[in-house]
Amino acid sequence: MCRDYEELYREAVELTRRLVSIPSVIGSEEEISKFLADWLADKGLMVRRDEVGNVISMSGEGPLYLLYNGHMDTVPPQPGWTKDPFDPVIEGDKLYGLGSSDMKGGLAAMAVAYAELANCTHLPLMYTAVVREEGGDDTLENMRGALHLAKTFLQGKKAVGIVGEGSVDKDGKLIIRIGHNGKLRMKIKVRGVAGHGSRPDYAVNAIYLAMEVVRAFKESYDYTNPIKIPKVTLDSEIRPPLSINVFRAGGAINQIPSEAEFLVDRRIVYGEDIEELRRRYSSLVEHVIEGLRQELAPRLGELGRDIGADVEEIGMNRPPYMLPDTEEATRLLNAAKKVVKDLEGKVELSYGTGYTDAEILWSFAGIPSIILGPGARAHVQDEYLDLDPLKKVVRAYMDIPRLMFR
Ligand SMILES: [Zn+2]
Repeated sequence: MCRDYEELYREAVELTRRLVSIPSVIGSEEEISKFLADWLADKGLMVRRDEVGNVISMSGEGPLYLLYNGHMDTVPPQPGWTKDPFDPVIEGDKLYGLGSSDMKGGLAAMAVAYAELANCTHLPLMYTAVVREEGGDDTLENMRGALHLAKTFLQGKKAVGIVGEGSVDKDGKLIIRIGHNGKLRMKIKVRGVAGHGSRPDYAVNAIYLAMEVVRAFKESYDYTNPIKIPKVTLDSEIRPPLSINVFRAGGAINQIPSEAEFLVDRRIVYGEDIEELRRRYSSLVEHVIEGLRQELAPRLGELGRDIGADVEEIGMNRPPYMLPDTEEATRLLNAAKKVVKDLEGKVELSYGTGYTDAEILWSFAGIPSIILGPGARAHVQDEYLDLDPLKKVVRAYMDIPRLMFR
């Protein structure tokens, strides 16, 4: 007999608190990883930690598994917290703490549901808690735990997945995400000609050149033409996001800089082609630079040859994700839709603007996933988790496999 939802929910709240109280800023997940592995082992389950610190557990047997997947790391706490980010407190129906929403609540609810079902049923289930999802730094991003997992343990496994990232609408209702944006991040380095601040006529200021390239990026962005995402019932029109959020140049007030660089964050919407975007942006940069070279040629002569720009990609750039139409994926989605409808009275399918490990699980291990989790407020000061969606998601994680494998 499986325990009732109320008891499981209380266990999930308690486990969320424990997880929040263990700092796990990206790159330092060892302690939380050991804690989670011990927690599962204490439940009598087979569990191991792989070379990079991912926690892996598997239970039951069958031709198709249901995989619960979440990440253990958080972003670093931002300045401006009024509470201790690592000392979880519950006020009213909110649990405060760094990572409570993104995504220790989801991770805990998944662990509780997985452990319970593993002990009270024979359903074919897997639980994986991964390291290094939050990125931010390209070296760490290229070492994502999910990527390692997809290339090792998950290779050849027949499964469908639930990624427990937040999927809560603005009214606090659970929704199901079936797809999300990909991303293309670029560093544009522009070269001019250095010179003395008193003689700008003998130099080419890299800041001025870079500004022209920035302007071209800004103007290339079409706000008026959203892309319509198929199958989605909520916010199905997406404008491809492009933003330039870092600009670096110069050092001394009396020296004209020869280099300036800026970073472009371009999210890729379902239907857009990452290769086409790569080509589009490198020819855009080339075009602007060539125009500047010609414009400056009469003044600079030979020196004009030094003007240039390089486009370099940053981190792991990946295409968008969409739940495929395979038989297994449809089986998962139908079960999830029924469960969420029972919980909320209706069910909405949505498309996320942010990237998740669902794309990695699909592209590198052939595991189609939905995104379903209790979080709503990621990467903010005084991050909190609403307990109502946590309660519902415990039920959803319990019921989806029971319905799917019935
Ligand atoms: Zn997350």
